[in-house]
Amino acid sequence: MTAILKNFIGGEWVDGSGVTKNINPSNTNDLVGEYAKADKAQTEKAIAAAKAAFPAWARSTPQERYDALNKVSLEIIARKEELGRLLAREEGKTLPEGIGEVARAGQIFAFFAGEALRLTGEKGASVRPGLDVELTREPVGVVGMITPWNFPIAIPAWKIAPALCYGNTVVFKPAELVPGSAHALSEIITRSGIPAGVFNLVVGSGSVVGQTLLEHPDVAAISFTGSVQTGRKIAQACVLSNPMKKFQLEMGGKNPLVVLDDADLKLAVEVAVNGAYFSTGQRCTASSRLIVTEGIHDRFVAAMTERLKGLTVDDALKAGVHIGPVVDQSQLDQDLRYIKIGQDEGAKLAWGGELLKRETPGHYLQPAMFTEANNNMRIAREEIFGPVATVIRAKNYEEALAISNDTEFGLASGICTSSLKYASHYKRNSESGMVMVNLPTAGVDYHVPFGGRKGSSYGAREQGSYAREFYTTVKTAYTYPG
Ligand code: ADP
Repeated sequence: MTAILKNFIGGEWVDGSGVTKNINPSNTNDLVGEYAKADKAQTEKAIAAAKAAFPAWARSTPQERYDALNKVSLEIIARKEELGRLLAREEGKTLPEGIGEVARAGQIFAFFAGEALRLTGEKGASVRPGLDVELTREPVGVVGMITPWNFPIAIPAWKIAPALCYGNTVVFKPAELVPGSAHALSEIITRSGIPAGVFNLVVGSGSVVGQTLLEHPDVAAISFTGSVQTGRKIAQACVLSNPMKKFQLEMGGKNPLVVLDDADLKLAVEVAVNGAYFSTGQRCTASSRLIVTEGIHDRFVAAMTERLKGLTVDDALKAGVHIGPVVDQSQLDQDLRYIKIGQDEGAKLAWGGELLKRETPGHYLQPAMFTEANNNMRIAREEIFGPVATVIRAKNYEEALAISNDTEFGLASGICTSSLKYASHYKRNSESGMVMVNLPTAGVDYHVPFGGRKGSSYGAREQGSYAREFYTTVKTAYTYPG
Protein backbone atom coordinates (compact mmCIF):
# COMPACT_ATOMS: atom_id res chain seq x y z
CA MET A 1 0.00 0.00 0.00
CA THR A 2 1.28 3.47 -0.77
CA ALA A 3 1.57 6.05 1.95
CA ILE A 4 -1.31 8.31 2.83
CA LEU A 5 -0.50 11.72 1.43
CA LYS A 6 -0.62 14.48 3.99
CA ASN A 7 -1.92 17.99 4.44
CA PHE A 8 0.38 20.96 4.57
CA ILE A 9 -0.14 23.20 7.57
CA GLY A 10 2.18 25.89 8.91
CA GLY A 11 5.11 24.72 6.80
CA GLU A 12 4.79 21.03 7.68
CA TRP A 13 3.23 17.94 6.18
CA VAL A 14 0.83 16.56 8.75
CA ASP A 15 -1.35 13.48 9.14
CA GLY A 16 -5.09 13.88 9.08
CA SER A 17 -7.95 12.39 11.02
CA GLY A 18 -9.39 10.27 8.25
CA VAL A 19 -8.67 9.29 4.71
CA THR A 20 -10.20 10.16 1.37
CA LYS A 21 -9.74 7.63 -1.41
CA ASN A 22 -8.96 8.93 -4.87
CA ILE A 23 -10.58 6.60 -7.41
CA ASN A 24 -9.92 6.58 -11.16
CA PRO A 25 -13.27 7.09 -12.92
CA SER A 26 -11.95 5.24 -16.00
CA ASN A 27 -11.26 2.19 -13.84
CA THR A 28 -12.88 2.12 -10.45
CA ASN A 29 -10.53 -0.72 -9.42
CA ASP A 30 -7.64 1.69 -9.70
CA LEU A 31 -6.92 3.56 -6.48
CA VAL A 32 -4.98 6.67 -7.46
CA GLY A 33 -4.01 7.37 -3.88
CA GLU A 34 -5.14 7.96 -0.33
CA TYR A 35 -5.16 11.40 1.16
CA ALA A 36 -5.32 12.52 4.75
CA LYS A 37 -8.46 14.45 5.63
CA ALA A 38 -8.12 17.50 7.79
CA ASP A 39 -10.63 18.05 10.59
CA LYS A 40 -11.95 21.25 12.10
CA ALA A 41 -9.03 21.65 14.53
CA GLN A 42 -6.47 21.22 11.74
CA THR A 43 -8.30 23.68 9.53
CA GLU A 44 -8.17 26.15 12.39
CA LYS A 45 -4.44 25.49 12.72
CA ALA A 46 -4.00 26.20 9.02
CA ILE A 47 -5.93 29.45 9.39
CA ALA A 48 -3.81 30.42 12.41
CA ALA A 49 -0.63 29.65 10.46
CA ALA A 50 -1.83 31.72 7.52
CA LYS A 51 -2.73 34.57 9.86
CA ALA A 52 0.67 34.47 11.55
CA ALA A 53 2.46 34.43 8.19
CA PHE A 54 0.43 37.27 6.72
CA PRO A 55 2.21 40.40 8.04
CA ALA A 56 5.61 39.33 6.71
CA TRP A 57 4.29 38.05 3.37
CA ALA A 58 2.24 41.19 2.94
CA ARG A 59 5.51 43.14 3.18
CA SER A 60 7.51 40.79 0.96
CA THR A 61 9.05 42.39 -2.09
CA PRO A 62 7.70 42.00 -5.60
CA GLN A 63 10.96 40.22 -6.41
CA GLU A 64 10.39 37.58 -3.73
CA ARG A 65 6.88 36.97 -5.01
CA TYR A 66 8.02 36.90 -8.60
CA ASP A 67 10.74 34.38 -7.76
CA ALA A 68 8.37 32.06 -5.91
CA LEU A 69 5.59 32.15 -8.51
CA ASN A 70 8.02 31.81 -11.38
CA LYS A 71 9.60 28.79 -9.74
CA VAL A 72 6.17 27.19 -9.37
CA SER A 73 5.42 27.90 -13.01
CA LEU A 74 8.67 26.38 -14.25
CA GLU A 75 8.21 23.17 -12.29
CA ILE A 76 4.59 22.74 -13.34
CA ILE A 77 5.46 23.18 -17.00
CA ALA A 78 8.50 20.91 -16.78
CA ARG A 79 6.30 18.17 -15.28
CA LYS A 80 3.20 18.73 -17.39
CA GLU A 81 3.13 15.22 -18.89
CA GLU A 82 3.38 13.49 -15.54
CA LEU A 83 0.95 15.84 -13.79
CA GLY A 84 -1.43 15.75 -16.77
CA ARG A 85 -1.50 11.97 -16.49
CA LEU A 86 -2.30 12.16 -12.80
CA LEU A 87 -5.04 14.70 -13.52
CA ALA A 88 -6.58 12.62 -16.30
CA ARG A 89 -6.38 9.53 -14.12
CA GLU A 90 -8.16 11.08 -11.15
CA GLU A 91 -10.69 13.28 -12.97
CA GLY A 92 -11.36 11.44 -16.22
CA LYS A 93 -10.63 14.11 -18.80
CA THR A 94 -8.48 12.84 -21.65
CA LEU A 95 -4.72 12.83 -21.39
CA PRO A 96 -4.24 15.72 -23.88
CA GLU A 97 -6.86 17.70 -21.97
CA GLY A 98 -5.11 16.87 -18.69
CA ILE A 99 -1.71 17.92 -20.01
CA GLY A 100 -3.24 21.06 -21.50
CA GLU A 101 -4.79 21.97 -18.18
CA VAL A 102 -1.51 21.48 -16.34
CA ALA A 103 0.31 23.65 -18.87
CA ARG A 104 -2.37 26.27 -18.34
CA ALA A 105 -1.77 26.19 -14.59
CA GLY A 106 1.91 26.82 -15.27
CA GLN A 107 1.11 29.74 -17.55
CA ILE A 108 -1.13 31.24 -14.89
CA PHE A 109 1.67 31.15 -12.33
CA ALA A 110 4.01 32.77 -14.86
CA PHE A 111 1.46 35.50 -15.55
CA PHE A 112 1.05 36.31 -11.87
CA ALA A 113 4.81 36.19 -11.32
CA GLY A 114 4.92 39.11 -13.74
CA GLU A 115 1.92 40.78 -12.15
CA ALA A 116 3.79 40.90 -8.83
CA LEU A 117 6.26 43.25 -10.53
CA ARG A 118 3.60 45.34 -12.19
CA LEU A 119 1.47 46.37 -9.21
CA THR A 120 1.53 50.12 -8.96
CA GLY A 121 -0.55 52.77 -7.25
CA GLU A 122 -1.81 56.18 -8.29
CA LYS A 123 -1.06 59.63 -7.04
CA GLY A 124 -3.38 62.49 -7.85
CA ALA A 125 -4.14 66.04 -7.01
CA SER A 126 -6.58 66.65 -4.21
CA VAL A 127 -9.65 68.80 -4.73
CA ARG A 128 -8.43 70.62 -1.63
CA PRO A 129 -5.42 72.89 -2.04
CA GLY A 130 -2.02 71.63 -0.94
CA LEU A 131 -3.01 68.01 -0.36
CA ASP A 132 -1.85 64.86 -2.10
CA VAL A 133 -4.03 61.84 -2.63
CA GLU A 134 -2.54 58.40 -3.10
CA LEU A 135 -4.26 55.18 -4.03
CA THR A 136 -2.49 51.96 -3.15
CA ARG A 137 -3.52 48.34 -3.08
CA GLU A 138 -2.90 46.14 -0.09
CA PRO A 139 -3.42 42.43 0.36
CA VAL A 140 -6.67 41.32 1.93
CA GLY A 141 -5.35 38.81 4.46
CA VAL A 142 -5.99 35.09 4.81
CA VAL A 143 -7.88 33.84 1.77
CA GLY A 144 -9.78 30.58 1.85
CA MET A 145 -10.06 28.75 -1.44
CA ILE A 146 -12.82 26.26 -2.06
CA THR A 147 -12.49 24.60 -5.43
CA PRO A 148 -14.41 22.04 -7.51
CA TRP A 149 -13.29 18.80 -9.14
CA ASN A 150 -13.67 19.65 -12.83
CA PHE A 151 -10.43 21.63 -13.27
CA PRO A 152 -8.32 20.12 -10.50
CA ILE A 153 -5.20 22.20 -11.15
CA ALA A 154 -6.20 25.18 -13.30
CA ILE A 155 -8.85 26.55 -10.94
CA PRO A 156 -6.66 26.23 -7.83
CA ALA A 157 -3.88 27.89 -9.87
CA TRP A 158 -6.00 30.83 -10.89
CA LYS A 159 -6.92 31.46 -7.26
CA ILE A 160 -3.65 30.65 -5.46
CA ALA A 161 -1.33 32.46 -7.91
CA PRO A 162 -3.01 35.89 -7.65
CA ALA A 163 -3.54 35.48 -3.91
CA LEU A 164 0.19 34.98 -3.35
CA CYS A 165 1.11 37.54 -6.00
CA TYR A 166 -0.66 40.32 -4.15
CA GLY A 167 0.66 39.36 -0.70
CA ASN A 168 -2.16 37.27 0.77
CA THR A 169 -1.79 34.00 2.60
CA VAL A 170 -3.77 30.96 1.59
CA VAL A 171 -5.75 28.06 3.00
CA PHE A 172 -6.62 25.81 0.09
CA LYS A 173 -9.47 23.29 0.28
CA PRO A 174 -9.68 21.27 -2.92
CA ALA A 175 -12.63 19.11 -3.92
CA GLU A 176 -12.46 15.72 -2.30
CA LEU A 177 -12.70 13.90 -5.63
CA VAL A 178 -9.41 15.29 -6.92
CA PRO A 179 -6.86 15.52 -4.10
CA GLY A 180 -4.06 14.20 -6.32
CA SER A 181 -3.57 17.30 -8.46
CA ALA A 182 -4.12 19.51 -5.43
CA HIS A 183 -1.45 17.66 -3.50
CA ALA A 184 1.02 17.76 -6.38
CA LEU A 185 0.45 21.47 -6.89
CA SER A 186 0.83 22.10 -3.18
CA GLU A 187 4.11 20.21 -3.07
CA ILE A 188 5.45 22.38 -5.86
CA ILE A 189 4.31 25.51 -4.04
CA THR A 190 6.02 24.39 -0.84
CA ARG A 191 9.31 24.18 -2.73
CA SER A 192 9.01 27.69 -4.13
CA GLY A 193 10.74 29.44 -1.26
CA ILE A 194 7.68 30.98 0.35
CA PRO A 195 7.80 31.16 4.16
CA ALA A 196 5.97 28.64 6.35
CA GLY A 197 2.27 29.39 6.79
CA VAL A 198 1.91 31.44 3.61
CA PHE A 199 0.32 28.49 1.86
CA ASN A 200 -1.65 25.68 3.50
CA LEU A 201 -3.42 22.64 2.06
CA VAL A 202 -6.38 21.13 3.90
CA VAL A 203 -8.08 18.26 2.13
CA GLY A 204 -11.53 17.49 3.46
CA SER A 205 -15.23 17.84 3.13
CA GLY A 206 -17.19 20.98 2.45
CA SER A 207 -19.20 20.52 5.59
CA VAL A 208 -16.15 20.33 7.88
CA VAL A 209 -13.15 22.05 6.26
CA GLY A 210 -15.21 24.34 4.03
CA GLN A 211 -17.54 25.31 6.82
CA THR A 212 -14.66 26.06 9.19
CA LEU A 213 -13.16 28.43 6.63
CA LEU A 214 -16.51 30.14 6.21
CA GLU A 215 -17.11 30.62 9.91
CA HIS A 216 -13.65 31.61 11.03
CA PRO A 217 -13.19 35.32 11.84
CA ASP A 218 -9.54 35.24 10.74
CA VAL A 219 -10.37 34.31 7.15
CA ALA A 220 -10.75 37.62 5.35
CA ALA A 221 -11.95 36.37 1.99
CA ILE A 222 -13.31 33.30 0.26
CA SER A 223 -12.82 32.48 -3.40
CA PHE A 224 -15.23 29.75 -4.45
CA THR A 225 -15.96 27.81 -7.61
CA GLY A 226 -18.68 25.20 -7.54
CA SER A 227 -22.42 24.76 -7.59
CA VAL A 228 -25.02 27.51 -7.26
CA GLN A 229 -26.44 25.80 -4.22
CA THR A 230 -23.14 25.85 -2.34
CA GLY A 231 -22.37 29.31 -3.68
CA ARG A 232 -25.48 30.68 -2.01
CA LYS A 233 -24.54 29.09 1.30
CA ILE A 234 -21.09 30.59 1.01
CA ALA A 235 -22.42 34.05 0.30
CA GLN A 236 -24.72 33.83 3.28
CA ALA A 237 -21.97 32.59 5.59
CA CYS A 238 -19.57 35.32 4.44
CA VAL A 239 -22.11 38.04 5.11
CA LEU A 240 -23.08 36.62 8.50
CA SER A 241 -19.48 36.16 9.62
CA ASN A 242 -18.01 38.81 11.88
CA PRO A 243 -16.19 40.62 10.41
CA MET A 244 -17.90 40.06 7.07
CA LYS A 245 -15.76 38.35 4.49
CA LYS A 246 -15.04 39.42 0.98
CA PHE A 247 -16.15 36.70 -1.42
CA GLN A 248 -16.25 35.80 -5.07
CA LEU A 249 -18.34 32.98 -6.51
CA GLU A 250 -18.07 31.20 -9.84
CA MET A 251 -20.99 28.87 -10.23
CA GLY A 252 -23.08 27.22 -12.88
CA GLY A 253 -23.92 27.85 -16.48
CA LYS A 254 -26.48 26.89 -19.08
CA ASN A 255 -24.46 28.30 -21.88
CA PRO A 256 -26.08 28.90 -25.26
CA LEU A 257 -24.44 28.38 -28.60
CA VAL A 258 -26.45 29.99 -31.39
CA VAL A 259 -26.02 28.51 -34.87
CA LEU A 260 -27.39 30.69 -37.65
CA ASP A 261 -28.43 29.71 -41.16
CA ASP A 262 -25.34 31.41 -42.59
CA ALA A 263 -22.90 29.51 -40.36
CA ASP A 264 -20.16 27.35 -41.82
CA LEU A 265 -21.79 24.01 -40.98
CA LYS A 266 -18.58 22.06 -40.55
CA LEU A 267 -17.13 24.69 -38.25
CA ALA A 268 -20.39 24.97 -36.28
CA VAL A 269 -20.42 21.22 -35.67
CA GLU A 270 -16.81 21.27 -34.45
CA VAL A 271 -17.55 24.23 -32.21
CA ALA A 272 -20.68 22.56 -30.81
CA VAL A 273 -19.09 19.15 -30.25
CA ASN A 274 -16.08 20.67 -28.55
CA GLY A 275 -18.14 23.08 -26.45
CA ALA A 276 -20.82 20.61 -25.45
CA TYR A 277 -18.99 17.33 -25.00
CA PHE A 278 -15.25 17.69 -24.58
CA SER A 279 -14.03 17.23 -21.02
CA THR A 280 -17.16 15.03 -20.77
CA GLY A 281 -19.31 18.16 -20.75
CA GLN A 282 -18.09 18.83 -17.23
CA ARG A 283 -17.19 22.46 -17.73
CA CYS A 284 -19.13 25.38 -16.30
CA THR A 285 -18.69 26.98 -19.74
CA ALA A 286 -20.03 23.95 -21.65
CA SER A 287 -22.46 24.67 -24.51
CA SER A 288 -25.44 22.82 -23.12
CA ARG A 289 -28.03 24.67 -25.23
CA LEU A 290 -27.55 24.57 -28.99
CA ILE A 291 -29.96 27.13 -30.44
CA VAL A 292 -30.24 26.56 -34.15
CA THR A 293 -32.18 28.56 -36.72
CA GLU A 294 -34.66 26.84 -38.99
CA GLY A 295 -32.77 26.96 -42.29
CA ILE A 296 -29.80 24.97 -40.96
CA HIS A 297 -31.46 23.02 -38.15
CA ASP A 298 -31.95 19.66 -39.85
CA ARG A 299 -28.57 19.70 -41.57
CA PHE A 300 -26.94 20.64 -38.26
CA VAL A 301 -28.63 17.83 -36.36
CA ALA A 302 -27.71 15.31 -39.07
CA ALA A 303 -24.07 16.45 -39.14
CA MET A 304 -23.88 16.49 -35.34
CA THR A 305 -25.22 12.95 -35.17
CA GLU A 306 -22.61 11.76 -37.65
CA ARG A 307 -19.88 13.52 -35.72
CA LEU A 308 -21.07 12.10 -32.39
CA LYS A 309 -21.08 8.60 -33.85
CA GLY A 310 -17.39 9.05 -34.60
CA LEU A 311 -16.38 10.03 -31.06
CA THR A 312 -14.50 7.49 -28.98
CA VAL A 313 -15.58 7.29 -25.36
CA ASP A 314 -13.10 5.29 -23.33
CA ASP A 315 -10.38 5.27 -20.69
CA ALA A 316 -9.09 8.81 -20.34
CA LEU A 317 -5.49 7.64 -20.52
CA LYS A 318 -5.84 5.73 -23.79
CA ALA A 319 -4.48 7.34 -26.94
CA GLY A 320 -7.06 8.62 -29.39
CA VAL A 321 -9.92 8.85 -26.89
CA HIS A 322 -12.14 11.89 -27.41
CA ILE A 323 -14.25 11.67 -24.29
CA GLY A 324 -13.35 10.18 -20.96
CA PRO A 325 -15.70 8.89 -18.29
CA VAL A 326 -18.04 10.88 -16.07
CA VAL A 327 -16.23 11.82 -12.88
CA ASP A 328 -18.10 9.59 -10.42
CA GLN A 329 -21.22 7.57 -9.81
CA SER A 330 -23.21 10.41 -8.32
CA GLN A 331 -22.54 12.70 -11.31
CA LEU A 332 -23.38 9.81 -13.64
CA ASP A 333 -26.66 9.28 -11.78
CA GLN A 334 -27.44 12.98 -12.23
CA ASP A 335 -26.70 12.80 -15.97
CA LEU A 336 -28.92 9.75 -16.37
CA ARG A 337 -31.67 11.38 -14.30
CA TYR A 338 -31.68 14.37 -16.63
CA ILE A 339 -31.69 12.15 -19.72
CA LYS A 340 -34.84 10.53 -18.34
CA ILE A 341 -36.31 13.95 -17.45
CA GLY A 342 -35.70 15.16 -21.01
CA GLN A 343 -37.48 12.17 -22.47
CA ASP A 344 -40.36 12.52 -20.02
CA GLU A 345 -40.66 16.20 -20.95
CA GLY A 346 -41.13 15.20 -24.59
CA ALA A 347 -37.74 16.03 -26.07
CA LYS A 348 -36.31 13.52 -28.52
CA LEU A 349 -33.11 11.76 -27.55
CA ALA A 350 -31.63 11.99 -31.03
CA TRP A 351 -28.33 10.38 -30.12
CA GLY A 352 -26.56 8.74 -27.19
CA GLY A 353 -27.36 8.65 -23.52
CA GLU A 354 -26.48 4.96 -23.16
CA LEU A 355 -24.17 3.57 -20.52
CA LEU A 356 -21.13 2.06 -22.21
CA LYS A 357 -19.06 -0.94 -21.19
CA ARG A 358 -15.32 -0.78 -21.67
CA GLU A 359 -12.38 -3.02 -20.71
CA THR A 360 -12.27 -1.56 -17.24
CA PRO A 361 -15.18 -0.67 -14.95
CA GLY A 362 -15.71 3.07 -15.36
CA HIS A 363 -18.47 5.66 -15.57
CA TYR A 364 -18.79 5.65 -19.35
CA LEU A 365 -21.69 7.51 -20.89
CA GLN A 366 -22.34 7.99 -24.57
CA PRO A 367 -22.66 11.74 -25.27
CA ALA A 368 -26.35 12.57 -25.50
CA MET A 369 -28.08 15.03 -27.82
CA PHE A 370 -31.69 16.06 -27.42
CA THR A 371 -33.69 17.63 -30.22
CA GLU A 372 -37.32 18.79 -30.53
CA ALA A 373 -36.84 20.56 -27.23
CA ASN A 374 -37.89 23.97 -26.02
CA ASN A 375 -36.23 26.39 -23.69
CA ASN A 376 -38.77 25.86 -20.91
CA MET A 377 -37.82 22.25 -20.38
CA ARG A 378 -35.74 21.43 -17.33
CA ILE A 379 -33.00 20.04 -19.61
CA ALA A 380 -32.75 23.54 -21.10
CA ARG A 381 -32.90 25.41 -17.80
CA GLU A 382 -30.95 23.42 -15.24
CA GLU A 383 -27.26 22.69 -15.30
CA ILE A 384 -26.67 18.97 -15.89
CA PHE A 385 -22.85 19.09 -15.90
CA GLY A 386 -22.39 16.11 -18.15
CA PRO A 387 -22.12 15.15 -21.82
CA VAL A 388 -25.70 16.11 -22.53
CA ALA A 389 -26.75 18.92 -24.88
CA THR A 390 -30.12 20.12 -26.05
CA VAL A 391 -30.83 21.45 -29.52
CA ILE A 392 -33.51 24.13 -29.58
CA ARG A 393 -34.99 25.32 -32.85
CA ALA A 394 -35.37 29.07 -33.42
CA LYS A 395 -37.23 30.90 -36.21
CA ASN A 396 -34.56 33.48 -36.82
CA TYR A 397 -31.67 35.37 -35.23
CA GLU A 398 -33.94 37.53 -33.10
CA GLU A 399 -35.67 34.54 -31.59
CA ALA A 400 -32.34 32.75 -31.14
CA LEU A 401 -30.98 35.75 -29.21
CA ALA A 402 -34.08 35.89 -27.02
CA ILE A 403 -33.80 32.17 -26.21
CA SER A 404 -30.10 32.58 -25.65
CA ASN A 405 -30.71 35.22 -22.97
CA ASP A 406 -33.72 33.46 -21.45
CA THR A 407 -31.80 31.75 -18.67
CA GLU A 408 -30.98 32.46 -15.07
CA PHE A 409 -27.29 31.95 -15.87
CA GLY A 410 -24.85 34.15 -17.80
CA LEU A 411 -21.36 32.71 -17.87
CA ALA A 412 -20.47 32.12 -21.52
CA SER A 413 -22.34 32.29 -24.81
CA GLY A 414 -21.48 31.78 -28.43
CA ILE A 415 -22.64 32.27 -31.97
CA CYS A 416 -21.67 30.58 -35.21
CA THR A 417 -22.30 32.88 -38.15
CA SER A 418 -20.52 34.33 -41.14
CA SER A 419 -22.38 37.61 -40.71
CA LEU A 420 -20.52 40.53 -39.19
CA LYS A 421 -23.86 42.15 -38.45
CA TYR A 422 -25.19 39.26 -36.36
CA ALA A 423 -21.84 38.56 -34.74
CA SER A 424 -21.55 42.21 -33.67
CA HIS A 425 -25.14 42.38 -32.49
CA TYR A 426 -24.77 39.17 -30.50
CA LYS A 427 -21.56 40.32 -28.83
CA ARG A 428 -23.36 43.46 -27.69
CA ASN A 429 -26.63 41.90 -26.64
CA SER A 430 -25.76 38.51 -25.23
CA GLU A 431 -26.22 38.64 -21.47
CA SER A 432 -23.12 36.72 -20.49
CA GLY A 433 -19.68 37.45 -19.13
CA MET A 434 -17.84 35.85 -22.05
CA VAL A 435 -19.01 35.81 -25.67
CA MET A 436 -17.49 33.71 -28.43
CA VAL A 437 -17.89 34.09 -32.18
CA ASN A 438 -17.27 30.92 -34.20
CA LEU A 439 -15.59 29.42 -31.15
CA PRO A 440 -16.69 26.99 -28.45
CA THR A 441 -18.19 28.57 -25.33
CA ALA A 442 -15.54 26.71 -23.36
CA GLY A 443 -11.87 27.52 -23.80
CA VAL A 444 -10.52 30.86 -22.68
CA ASP A 445 -7.30 32.82 -22.42
CA TYR A 446 -5.62 33.20 -19.05
CA HIS A 447 -4.51 36.81 -19.28
CA VAL A 448 -8.01 38.31 -19.51
CA PRO A 449 -10.94 38.21 -17.09
CA PHE A 450 -13.03 35.09 -16.59
CA GLY A 451 -16.50 35.30 -15.12
CA GLY A 452 -20.18 35.70 -15.74
CA ARG A 453 -23.38 37.48 -14.93
CA LYS A 454 -26.74 36.69 -13.40
CA GLY A 455 -26.77 33.41 -11.48
CA SER A 456 -23.37 32.30 -12.76
CA SER A 457 -21.06 34.56 -10.86
CA TYR A 458 -20.90 36.94 -7.97
CA GLY A 459 -18.19 39.40 -7.09
CA ALA A 460 -14.98 40.43 -8.78
CA ARG A 461 -13.74 38.72 -11.91
CA GLU A 462 -11.02 36.10 -11.82
CA GLN A 463 -7.87 35.89 -13.97
CA GLY A 464 -5.81 38.42 -15.81
CA SER A 465 -4.97 41.69 -14.11
CA TYR A 466 -8.64 41.98 -13.07
CA ALA A 467 -7.87 39.40 -10.39
CA ARG A 468 -6.36 42.18 -8.32
CA GLU A 469 -9.82 43.53 -7.55
CA PHE A 470 -10.50 40.53 -5.39
CA TYR A 471 -7.06 39.87 -3.98
CA THR A 472 -6.31 43.43 -2.95
CA THR A 473 -8.09 46.15 -1.08
CA VAL A 474 -7.64 49.77 -2.05
CA LYS A 475 -6.32 52.34 0.36
CA THR A 476 -6.85 56.07 -0.20
CA ALA A 477 -4.22 58.11 1.63
CA TYR A 478 -4.31 61.92 2.01
CA THR A 479 -1.22 63.92 2.86
CA TYR A 480 -0.93 67.53 3.85
CA PRO A 481 2.78 68.24 3.41
CA GLY A 482 2.47 71.30 5.61
P1 ADP B 1 -19.55 20.30 -7.31
O1 ADP B 1 -20.80 20.01 -8.05
O2 ADP B 1 -18.46 20.86 -8.14
O3 ADP B 1 -19.11 19.20 -6.39
P2 ADP B 1 -20.07 21.81 -4.92
O4 ADP B 1 -20.58 23.20 -4.81
O5 ADP B 1 -20.81 20.74 -4.21
O6 ADP B 1 -19.98 21.56 -6.46
O7 ADP B 1 -18.57 21.72 -4.44
C1 ADP B 1 -17.58 22.69 -4.75
C2 ADP B 1 -16.66 22.85 -3.57
O8 ADP B 1 -17.41 23.37 -2.46
C3 ADP B 1 -16.04 21.55 -3.06
O9 ADP B 1 -14.71 21.81 -2.65
C4 ADP B 1 -16.92 21.20 -1.88
O10 ADP B 1 -16.26 20.38 -0.94
C5 ADP B 1 -17.23 22.56 -1.32
N1 ADP B 1 -18.44 22.61 -0.49
C6 ADP B 1 -19.57 21.90 -0.64
N2 ADP B 1 -20.47 22.22 0.32
C7 ADP B 1 -19.89 23.16 1.09
C8 ADP B 1 -20.31 23.91 2.25
N3 ADP B 1 -21.50 23.75 2.79
N4 ADP B 1 -19.46 24.80 2.76
C9 ADP B 1 -18.23 24.99 2.22
N5 ADP B 1 -17.78 24.33 1.15
C10 ADP B 1 -18.59 23.42 0.57
